[in-house]
Amino acid sequence: MHPDRTRSRDRARLERKQCSACAETKRAEDFYVSGGRLSSYCKNCQREASRLAYRRRRPDPAARAHMRTVDQLRKRQERARLARLDPERDRRADRARRAAVRRLIAVHEPEYLSRLQQELAALLGGGRDA
Ligand SMILES: [Zn+2]
Repeated sequence: MHPDRTRSRDRARLERKQCSACAETKRAEDFYVSGGRLSSYCKNCQREASRLAYRRRRPDPAARAHMRTVDQLRKRQERARLARLDPERDRRADRARRAAVRRLIAVHEPEYLSRLQQELAALLGGGRDA
């Protein structure tokens, strides 16, 4: 490689540089290095810029709710389309789900039974109080 470049990089590390955002002249270590060069914004200004960019990109709650509604509608339509193509699909999925639940219960049977007893006791207790 070119030794001159290495030397100039070493020198660059000791240099001072003016931030193009806050216009302060700072030490090289106050700037992030990007692509082998010092960033044009100092670390503080870079962090602030990233924070603002993140806030701009993040959708507001109303936009998120709208996206969720659109997504739910799209999924419902997709399920309806698949059901038309293959009417047995839902029943197969239901059987697979129930088999999965049975396997899960079989693996965790003691825990399942004790939780079931807790829930039953809570239901009965609630009934007595009412
Ligand atoms: Zn700055």
